[in-house]
Amino acid sequence: SQIKEVEFVKSSARAKDCPRDERPEFAILGRSNVGKSSLINALARKKEVALTSKKPGKTQLINHFLVNKSWYLVDLPGYGFAKAPDSARMDWSSFTKGYFLNRETLVAVLLLIDASIPPQKIDLDCANWLGRNNIPITLVFTKCDKMKGGKRTRPDENIKNFQELMRQNYREHPAWIMTSSVTGLGRDELLLHMSQLRNY
Ligand code: GDP
Repeated sequence: SQIKEVEFVKSSARAKDCPRDERPEFAILGRSNVGKSSLINALARKKEVALTSKKPGKTQLINHFLVNKSWYLVDLPGYGFAKAPDSARMDWSSFTKGYFLNRETLVAVLLLIDASIPPQKIDLDCANWLGRNNIPITLVFTKCDKMKGGKRTRPDENIKNFQELMRQNYREHPAWIMTSSVTGLGRDELLLHMSQLRNY
C-alpha cells in the first residue's frame, strides 16, 4: 500500500475536464491550513510533491496526481479562508459540486479535519453536504500530535465532539483516522485504508 511514485497529471477547471480513465481516485478536501500539503507529503514520504493548488492561479482547480501508475490522488481547492473577506471566500460547494456528483471513479473523499481546534461549522456543513449526497467520506483528523497547549488544543475531545455533531446526520458513521504529519501517526493506516477501499 506504500506510495512509490507520484506523478502530476493535470489541473482541471471542471469535472468533465478530469482525466478519463477507469483508475480509482481519492479526493483530498479540507479548510485551508488544515495540514493538507503536510499530509500529502507525509504519505508520499517526500517533500517535493509540490501541490499545484498552492500556486497562484491554480487554487480553483482540480489537480490529479497519479500514484504508482494505478490510482489518483486528487487535490481539491481548500475552503473557508478564515482571513479573507467574505467576498473572497471560495464558494467550494458550487465549484466542486460537479466533481463530487459526476465523478464515477471517485472511491472516497478524504475530508481533513483539524483535531487541534473545536468542531468548525464550515467542516460540519461540508461533511453533511457530502453525506446528503451519498458521497463516501473518510474523516482524516490532522494535527493529532498537538496535545499540549490551551483548552482548545485537545484532539481527543475535539474529535469526539465532531463525531457527536455528525452522528445526527449520518446513519452509518464514516470511517475515521487520526493522523499527524509531525509524528507520522496514522500514515500507514490511511494508506492501508485506501488500498482496501480500492480493492473492495
Ligand atoms: P494546507 O494549507 O492545508 O496545505 O496546510 P499545511 O500543510 O501548509 O499546514 C498548515 C500549518 O499547519 C503549517 O504551519 C504546518 O506546519 C502545520 N501542520 C500541518 N500538519 C501538522 C501536524 O500534523 N501537526 C502539527 N503540529 N502541525 C501541523
